[in-house]
Amino acid sequence: MKIVDIREITVPIATNMSNAFINFAKMNVSFLAIISDVTKDGEPVVGYGFNSNGRYAQGALLRERIIPRVLEADSDSLLNEAGHLDPAKIWAAGMTDEKPGGHGERAVAMGVLDMAAWDLAAKLADRPLYRHLAETVGGGRAPAERVWVYAAGGYYYPDGGIDSLCDEMRHYVDLGYRTVKMKIGGAPLDEDLRRIEAVLGVLPAGCSLAVDANGRFDLPVALKYAQSLDGLDLYWYEEPVDPLDYASTAEVALAYSGRIATGENLMSFQDGRNLLRYGGLRPDRDVLQMDPVLSYGLTEYRQTLDAMETMGWSPARCVPHGGHQFNLAIAAAVGLGGIESYPGIFAPFGGLADDQPVEDGYVCMIDAPGIGLEQKAALAPLMKQLANG
Ligand code: MG
Repeated sequence: MKIVDIREITVPIATNMSNAFINFAKMNVSFLAIISDVTKDGEPVVGYGFNSNGRYAQGALLRERIIPRVLEADSDSLLNEAGHLDPAKIWAAGMTDEKPGGHGERAVAMGVLDMAAWDLAAKLADRPLYRHLAETVGGGRAPAERVWVYAAGGYYYPDGGIDSLCDEMRHYVDLGYRTVKMKIGGAPLDEDLRRIEAVLGVLPAGCSLAVDANGRFDLPVALKYAQSLDGLDLYWYEEPVDPLDYASTAEVALAYSGRIATGENLMSFQDGRNLLRYGGLRPDRDVLQMDPVLSYGLTEYRQTLDAMETMGWSPARCVPHGGHQFNLAIAAAVGLGGIESYPGIFAPFGGLADDQPVEDGYVCMIDAPGIGLEQKAALAPLMKQLANG
């Protein structure tokens, strides 16, 4: 068994919308295929990966450094003892001659490769990734057959007012979501409060609202928002400050009695561990959003989970950023608290499989080989383009 080629294409997912920090009008992703020499039904078995939205495509890094290292590696060095392609060994080949630290964009490029390696490994084992992971990474635990999921949206649009924001949130509830999320910090506090109160006014009983500041605030503004938000019974207050600013995160956690969620912009295991060491977060309520695909992949995320456990954090407190089926499979396999979802945004990469409805805030796992990306019709032309070279 060996890898015969690895290919990457850059695909636009541009939308003219903004959070508190960036506009997405030029957003794109790397879509990558690892092609094996194994064939099923006359076709090569291929693993696919792409980066979570919000970080740009990683084509140059992948094509110049990471992909050639894996292709140049001795084929046998990429196999486990059973003779199967091993995602951890593919990861190690991709990281050859890279110094530790200096995470930056490299963490995203490796995350893309790692996602494709796990997709391929599960397809070669002929089972859904969440079952494959439960068996391997999860040490044989029974995977969850449904996973909590929330709808992330509520961006700032140039022509969007409060009415269209409320319509968007109601639409997510109609789709089966029970928790929805909107952006804050892209408008003054009084305007954000009007937007929040309007959304709270249209959400049916049993539904809840989270807000996301995308790390935009300095400490005084974060605390001012915390004071205004504290009585609103929000599901969580996300990324009030830069997640690498552990001292300020700790200050906000002291001041805000509700749930804080953060971590999506931490690019490595070491940064995640420092957040737990110094960020003042509370294991009984706060939520960790580190995204495997943006931080060196599942191969590294396993270390983060191990560190969390030794520091008294349950995996159930993790709800990764990203909104795709790879993180869904990880959540089901190792017992994370849930995942983010972007219904209708960042197409064709955002969102779950076409036939994977959300019911009462949960999504049921589907029985498809690998990650199940083949169950998204809109991805098929891009997969074909990659697989055919
Ligand atoms: Mg966020």
